[in-house]
Amino acid sequence: MAIGSRREILGGLGAGIMLAGAGACASATSSRKIGYAIVGLGSYATRQIMPNFAGCDHARLVALVSGTPAKLDQYGAQYGIPATHRYSYADYDRIRDNPDIDAVYVVLPNAMHAEYSIRAAQAGKHVMCEKPMATSVAECEAMIAACRKAGTKLMIGYRSRFEPYNRLAIELARGSHVGPTRFITAEHGFSIQPNQWRLDRPLSGGGSMMDIGIYSLNAARYLTGEEPVEVSAIESTDHSDPRFRTVEDRVSFVLRFPSGIVANCISSYSSGHNGYRVIGTEGWIDMEPATPYAGQAMTIRKDGVTAPRTLAAPAKNQFAGQLDHLAESILNGGTPIVPGEEGLADLRVIEAIYRSAAERVKIRLGA
Ligand code: NAD
Repeated sequence: MAIGSRREILGGLGAGIMLAGAGACASATSSRKIGYAIVGLGSYATRQIMPNFAGCDHARLVALVSGTPAKLDQYGAQYGIPATHRYSYADYDRIRDNPDIDAVYVVLPNAMHAEYSIRAAQAGKHVMCEKPMATSVAECEAMIAACRKAGTKLMIGYRSRFEPYNRLAIELARGSHVGPTRFITAEHGFSIQPNQWRLDRPLSGGGSMMDIGIYSLNAARYLTGEEPVEVSAIESTDHSDPRFRTVEDRVSFVLRFPSGIVANCISSYSSGHNGYRVIGTEGWIDMEPATPYAGQAMTIRKDGVTAPRTLAAPAKNQFAGQLDHLAESILNGGTPIVPGEEGLADLRVIEAIYRSAAERVKIRLGA
């Protein structure tokens, strides 16, 4: 795609998102706001998601689910959620009887995603579930089946798909702006603090790969628009470090895509990384940082010239965009651009990465 003015780019992006959303955003949306219940009042829910309902056009916060009564009181008061709309985990299935709740947003430790998503579907509620969708392919398939049976939508919290720089990177990469893509490098990692559920395999399902390496994997998939056919991985973990008794620290993995694109990816719980680069035959598109909550930065090298690309601040941030997208899909009968199948696709590759690292073999996918 030839690059035009910023207005042209953003116009193109909007059209792309509508097409990708299979009509989710295409028609006029009703003025009714979709009511969300948040399940799990931890750091991400309370600091990133709940405050961003204020920027939504089609979504509102109507209910809270937590095992801690003091949190229900605190956040119930802060967000004006009446006692009738505050639930304990033991009470969770009673959301079925609350018509104000249209959708449930599952923001619990990874190993709880499947159970709480399936129970939401069984209560007749649409589901937004955080990444990783679950801790195994089998759990992902059960979640998709439960939502299909209940006739409810299922979307995964891949917020970068609602962030303008990542959307532009997708359009430029898939449109061969720097020539056809040859390589992608993607790196995500941070130095993890001890004593938390992320380091406890029964709750996390795995280490850095499940939590942060999934951003490298997901980016490689969304920048190519392809599914990998071959995976090879090396893991390196110091199990004498008390943080890594049950989960992995570092993973380096390589993906080969059907078109021949090779993605070289990093996942780490002991070093800081947040970026990707799309390398084409005529230059490269660099994003660093690529997937933080704010502050993405893009640099493009093309025709021998390296220059930053700056976008205007969007009217709606990635969190509000994500919440509104599921709401619009519900109101308009469309399919979210990141449905359960998207989470399942990542888990399929993650299982192959773990197998490749453990068995020291190259894994073929999609056969
Ligand atoms: P957190 O530890 O801050 O919150 C987890 C919540 O689950 C807490 O309220 C805790 O009380 C509750 N909980 C219920 N049962 C629990 C149990 N048995 N053990 C531990 N906690 C239990 O974690 P978080 O950072 O908010 O992560 C929650 C989910 O959100 C994870 O799946 C994570 O991957 C995801 N997340 C996504 C993003 C993103 O950018 N999309 C960012 C952070 C976290």
